[in-house]
Amino acid sequence: MSLRPRVVIVGGGFGGLAAAQALADEPVEVLLVDRNNFHLFQPLLYQVATGGLSPANISMPLRTILKKQRNARVLMAEVTDLNLLDRRVEFADGRHADFDYLIAATGASSFFFKNPEWELVAPGLKTVEDARRIRFEVLSAFEKAEAHGHPLAPGALTMVVVGGGPTGVEMAGAIAELARLTMRGEFRSIHSEEARILLIENGPRVLGSFDPASSAHALASLRQIGVEVRLETMVREVHSGRVVLELGGVQEDVPCAVVVWAAGVRASRLAQVLAEKAGLGMDRGGRVPVMPDGSLPGFPEVFAVGDMTSLIPEGATRPLPGLAPVAQQLARHVAGVIGRRVRGEASPPAFAYVDRGNMATIGRASAVAETYGMKLSGFLAWLAWLFIHLVLLIGFQNRLLVLLQWAINFLTFNRAARLINATATQTPQAPQTTQPGVPVHG
Ligand SMILES: Cc1cc2nc3c(=O)[nH]c(=O)nc-3n(C[C@H](O)[C@H](O)[C@H](O)COP(=O)(O)OP(=O)(O)OC[C@H]3O[C@@H](n4cnc5c(N)ncnc54)[C@H](O)[C@@H]3O)c2cc1C
Repeated sequence: MSLRPRVVIVGGGFGGLAAAQALADEPVEVLLVDRNNFHLFQPLLYQVATGGLSPANISMPLRTILKKQRNARVLMAEVTDLNLLDRRVEFADGRHADFDYLIAATGASSFFFKNPEWELVAPGLKTVEDARRIRFEVLSAFEKAEAHGHPLAPGALTMVVVGGGPTGVEMAGAIAELARLTMRGEFRSIHSEEARILLIENGPRVLGSFDPASSAHALASLRQIGVEVRLETMVREVHSGRVVLELGGVQEDVPCAVVVWAAGVRASRLAQVLAEKAGLGMDRGGRVPVMPDGSLPGFPEVFAVGDMTSLIPEGATRPLPGLAPVAQQLARHVAGVIGRRVRGEASPPAFAYVDRGNMATIGRASAVAETYGMKLSGFLAWLAWLFIHLVLLIGFQNRLLVLLQWAINFLTFNRAARLINATATQTPQAPQTTQPGVPVHG
């Protein structure tokens, strides 16, 4: 049995994986636990949802990524509880892992505010299952319309995307591209271009976190590719087959075939567990507050990073945004803190987030990018977007395959991964065993 300190990392997303890799040369034993056996590159989920890429193109087995890291083990398990006083992580199957240091990085999930039942009819876009479900619903709508023929039922080809942030903008643009370019001429009873794509945004502009000029460019690009953008519009009701919108006190009933929810996320359940166990409050997004070094106040050996945390940098009034680089940078900082502590060295300087900018793509060959003080839009921004996403994607094989797929999609207008599979709405579970109380971290 190793006597090296045990670091348990919960979550193999951007934050958890970055932490595990940054601990590669430290004298610790790392156990990375995730409910899935793969790391998922969420920024490209919308391309899976619209048939441009396959799930395997944007995910990579965690074991493969950490294969050569001798101090790291991977465990596929659902974490149900974090016992901070006993320093123990509990799993759904009754087993547990003891830790000397804990890094929680369980991210966020789609949030439907006071209407959790909307999730049944309006999938969010956070997981592979979500993307496959949206792909299923979007493609099925066209198939049903083709089978039914003209005159189409009201809303038969209306797709509503709720939320004008980067995810909503990218999603609406990709559905428009699918309908207007990819599937054009493939049907005999309908024209796929007849599809009506609505993007609903509560605020006064899309991409509200970007510069107003970028928002204006995105709005113009969306309208150019046929997306109907409704600003300052609230979604009041979501039902199977229709939504109720409200603008200036006037309500409108919109029949539709598909609703995609891109309007909100909330920190994962374990953020609440951490907050309760540490006697802390949570912010409006359900995020747990962390100290500038990523640790929980009062628990210097317990850290949290990424979308589940709220870290307000010194001198700032708002917490860092829920972005992959925020999760990765804090995770690497936390790994440095743990490494130095284990080696008996002084703590590193306080964490400082390096903001390299923000970007969003709008359909084919257009994007907005704000990076290193520059504001790009159009084709150049799209090239920058392609390059950055390829670089960030994990694994040489995935990069090569995605690059090839993008080139083929661009040249042929095709989106080959347009499978309608009936299991798209089923959520797989982590394997369960019946061995209660078995420790898994040697
Ligand atoms: C559609 C979409 C597009 C995005 N686009 C961008 C973008 O362009 N640029 C950008 O910077 N950011 C983007 N983001 C945000 C970015 O993906 C997140 O900020 C980032 O994933 C946060 O990393 P994380 O490690 O906190 O969480 P995640 O990457 O979400 O990882 C959390 C991990 O924890 C696991 N987990 C959760 N709960 C449990 C549990 N109880 N037991 C075991 N495992 C658990 C999950 O399976 C997951 O692997 C996008 C997000 C989405 C959804």
